[in-house]
Amino acid sequence: MTKRQKIFVTGRVQGVGFRPAVYRLACRLGLAGAVYNDTKGVTIELQGEEKTIVEFLARLQSDDKPPLAEIKSAAAVDAPVIHGDDKFTIRPSDSQGTALSQVTADIAACRDCLAEMADKNDFRYGYPFINCTNCGPRYSIVKTIPYDRPNTTMSAFEMCPKCAAQYSDVTDRRFHAQPVACPACGPKIWLTDSAGRTIEAQSGNAIAQAATVLRAGKIVAIKGIGGFHLAVDALAEQAVQRLRRRKRRDHKPFAMMAGSIETIKKYAIVSEFAEQVLKSPQSPIVLLPKKKDSSIAPSVADGVETFGFMLCYAPLHYLLFAQGIEVLVMTSGNIADEPLICKNEAAIEKLGQVADAFLMHDREIYRQVDDSVIHFIDGQPVPLRRARGYVPTPIFMEGNCREDIFATGSDLKTTFCFAKRNQLICSEHIGDLEDAEVYHHYISSIEHLRRLFEVEPKVVVCDLHPAYLSTQYARSLSGVKIVQVQHHWAHIASVLVEHGLSGPVIGIVCDGTGYGTDGAIWGCECIIASLEKFERFGHLAYYDLPGADKASKEAIRPLLSLLKKSWGKDFRLANLDWLLEQIKPEPHENTTYDIRNTKYIIDQLDRGVNCVQTSSLGRVFDAVAAMLALGGYNHFDAQLPMALEAIIESGIEDHYNFELISSANQAMQLDLGKTLKQLIADVQKGLGAGTISAKFHNTLSIALLAMAKQARESTKLDTVALSGGVFCNRYLTNRLIKQLKQDGFGVLLNREFPANDGGLSLGQAAIAGDVLKREF
Ligand SMILES: [Zn+2]
Ligand SMILES: [Zn+2]
Repeated sequence: MTKRQKIFVTGRVQGVGFRPAVYRLACRLGLAGAVYNDTKGVTIELQGEEKTIVEFLARLQSDDKPPLAEIKSAAAVDAPVIHGDDKFTIRPSDSQGTALSQVTADIAACRDCLAEMADKNDFRYGYPFINCTNCGPRYSIVKTIPYDRPNTTMSAFEMCPKCAAQYSDVTDRRFHAQPVACPACGPKIWLTDSAGRTIEAQSGNAIAQAATVLRAGKIVAIKGIGGFHLAVDALAEQAVQRLRRRKRRDHKPFAMMAGSIETIKKYAIVSEFAEQVLKSPQSPIVLLPKKKDSSIAPSVADGVETFGFMLCYAPLHYLLFAQGIEVLVMTSGNIADEPLICKNEAAIEKLGQVADAFLMHDREIYRQVDDSVIHFIDGQPVPLRRARGYVPTPIFMEGNCREDIFATGSDLKTTFCFAKRNQLICSEHIGDLEDAEVYHHYISSIEHLRRLFEVEPKVVVCDLHPAYLSTQYARSLSGVKIVQVQHHWAHIASVLVEHGLSGPVIGIVCDGTGYGTDGAIWGCECIIASLEKFERFGHLAYYDLPGADKASKEAIRPLLSLLKKSWGKDFRLANLDWLLEQIKPEPHENTTYDIRNTKYIIDQLDRGVNCVQTSSLGRVFDAVAAMLALGGYNHFDAQLPMALEAIIESGIEDHYNFELISSANQAMQLDLGKTLKQLIADVQKGLGAGTISAKFHNTLSIALLAMAKQARESTKLDTVALSGGVFCNRYLTNRLIKQLKQDGFGVLLNREFPANDGGLSLGQAAIAGDVLKREF
């Protein structure tokens, strides 16, 4: 008997070749009906024999599912049979169903394309720009919508008849693959010297010669999918050091690329899960525990316990590694903390002093996108940086926003977010706004993506911090309603919206800096939070932070303040000079910690000049790292805390004492005075730094657990959400999760967005979306 059913499919089903796949399957099975995008995904109408429809659904969710699609749900309802309907059609989407979702992320080369590239008889043999519906650049080449070839940077290349035939054949893997190209009609590759003069114009030779230059220990700038990389042999210490000097990046670990998972396994420990993430279509950098005594050059990743590895993802990378390359440093093509470079001329101009050669191509990158970085928390992959491969995949909310929203994010690791209808779309990692070029890039990115997603924000949401550039930018916009959201509340909101919840939950947020409602710098907070409101339940007891901006870099500042707080005004009498003397002076800065300098800071503390009250946990990590002689200066964000985590001795269960102080009208306070005194006694006794670090981490874990238990007692809530940059610390986070679960708590974490400030804009947008729901 003939039946008609409507199937509502949700998940990642737009912009991934889902409708053509549905079309092909329906035609093969002789089903009539239609397929089209809707606001939540894709609707399929099927008409035919019931058992054929059942077969269709089974196949669509297994063998016939396009590789990039992820079906979250497929709900079927019966519909009236339409007599005379005997064809299956792909219907154009109504405008409500598209716009936001039609641009998808950049995807690593698929298996089919790689097989063709290696096949001597294929007309794309050895072609570095091979792609299909299931792979290739997307987001990085789109200028405007609709997502059609003329609106991408591929408009410069006219398809040859062979490519055009595949592009317009609905049964072909390249049906409507906008970047489709071949050696006859598509982009070309060439090699230049550092001044941009062509050395080799023939594609195959250019790649072979680039490999030769790399093997000689030279630096090659390689244009990829989202921008230029600076590449150098990761096994050659002198070459890596030269790259550090020229790029002006003294300390931050470099990422590496390898041609196969077997190669990565020679240098790092790769779990089954990590292997899956490395091989995923998103192809991110994955942080992996180092293997002992590996032959990777020491200065690739000094002072951390992990290597950041990724596999080849552009066809070009595969061709390069096929030249017998083992493992390359592949770091962002930029100077210091400036934006990633993606244009040919800019690369020569800015990187001419860094790279010895450039592997160039003429497929323009319209939007620079950094590599994403993933690590594992509680056995699950979590991003530290969300960019290529993941952006602009939206998060779906319950209900629609009545107005479009723009959320500015924070000033560090900045992302911004748009809310439109039921979707939240976060930008890729932009960087730290204090760099003038990054700020400029931030402003132009907002404008570009606003147009790309057709968003007209009426509500703009930003941080509470009056000095943030992102706050000032929000305030400069006219004709919009401004909503300011407290930093730590936004962190917890980002967790809630990721899990489709609205709260309330017990939120524990630990990070470096977040402007508080009382004007202090918050940073270790227990809040009772929903999307609607939050209340501060407890926090780390305030201490003074002398020297404003300098305090987040120079560990001596929080250290002296914490000593003073623990020992009182006359802490110098406590005979701690030995401790101050072992703090490593910084050769690069004018901040050698001689007695004059500490005197100046102590004087500042005594008189309260240029001091701000803080509950920052990040700065406590800095101080402890300094006391353990791990360094005195954060050259990059969280350098000292990461060094402290890296030395933890495993198997230590001891901890220090701490106090939770409650009073009638105040939030509960966590006092670490006893912790620090015991810790310093351990240092004086000569206990190993790895053991002390473990005890310190263990203390924080049980202290935060104790705070959560108090919050549960008073609120009867039993779900804890964790967020903030400190929860990028794997030891602390894994331990705390375990202890919370053992105590009967449900635990929520950021899963698809970073726990650091990279996830902040998502939380801001979610809170503003909730405000709108209630106000209209
Ligand atoms: Zn492909
Ligand atoms: Zn062609």
